Amino acid sequence: MNITRRSSKEIKIGNVKIGAGHPIAIQSMAKVDTRNIAAVSSQIKQMQKCGCEVVRVAVKDKDAACAIRRIKSKINIPLVADIHFNYELALFSIENGADKIRLNPGNIYKKDQVSKIAAMANKAGIPIRVGVNSGSMRKYSPNVEGMVKSALSYINMLEDFGFYNIVVSLKASSVSETIEAYRKFAKKSRYPLHLGITATGTTEEGRIKSAIGIGALLADGIGDTIRVSLTADPLEEIEAAKEILKALNLRSFGPEIISCPTCGRCEVDLINMVKKLEGKLSTASSQLSTRPIKLAVMGCEVNGPGEARAADFGIAFGKTSGVLFRDKKIVKRIKKAEAIKEIFKELKNYGKN
Ligand code: SF4
Repeated sequence: MNITRRSSKEIKIGNVKIGAGHPIAIQSMAKVDTRNIAAVSSQIKQMQKCGCEVVRVAVKDKDAACAIRRIKSKINIPLVADIHFNYELALFSIENGADKIRLNPGNIYKKDQVSKIAAMANKAGIPIRVGVNSGSMRKYSPNVEGMVKSALSYINMLEDFGFYNIVVSLKASSVSETIEAYRKFAKKSRYPLHLGITATGTTEEGRIKSAIGIGALLADGIGDTIRVSLTADPLEEIEAAKEILKALNLRSFGPEIISCPTCGRCEVDLINMVKKLEGKLSTASSQLSTRPIKLAVMGCEVNGPGEARAADFGIAFGKTSGVLFRDKKIVKRIKKAEAIKEIFKELKNYGKN
């Protein structure tokens, strides 16, 4: 499937460009108190290593806004300040070097306050995300129409102040409402869109809701940045976001494992084998090429090689050993116990070809 991306305006968040066909950026949110500079910086560094490209922090008071400068000196990805209720926190955050401000039209809406933020953001050359959330609507109804109207009227207000450096999100906890709201909005505006389903729940439920919601929109060509929200460690959000982008061939993050579901023919403990392989690929990803390699891991030799036709490289297990194949041809046999080591060795070489 070829996805034609929606034409959107180019916006710069620090050194990350979004919109106008730039790669869809992965965002996540730090989950420790922003005022605890050591803890938040250390979490962001881990997130960065995992593949997070833009990070957001909650700014709930002046100390948190002032912490931004020191946090930024310790990290290498753009930092977004998440502001609610108190417009002055946006001003302090910009003063302290935030690369983008997220405002919620439901709780910062007074013209004189928004104009001050817009003027300061314009001067600093940073974008504002108009982050509509169905759970905190003020003037409009908490439904699809209301979310779209809220975003458009806030954009009008910003444009009246001469501010055009805008990103938009329209998040709801209902997957179908979120999809509808983004689709409607996408027809009415060229500003880039940050996608997300809010309050999705635990990892299991949240990954599914996000994959459906964000995935459906991405498949439509809508979306310039994404955040998977989970009641879980932020690294899980980043991993899930990467999986969604990989599944739609929108980004490549190195080898993708295609493993069979197993059945009565399976000749190996494939579930554990794939888990171990996944762990190895994620801890040693720096040794591998970022080329989009499809790696098939199949439980039997009967259907394995055939089922793995779409893969670049893979293994199909037999009673005592496994058959390694590359570009649809058998390369060699390897012992089951050495499978992970051998696959990894082959992958390293394969990436260099
Ligand atoms: S590859 Fe073999 S073990 Fe895996 S599902 Fe197919 S038939 Fe079953």
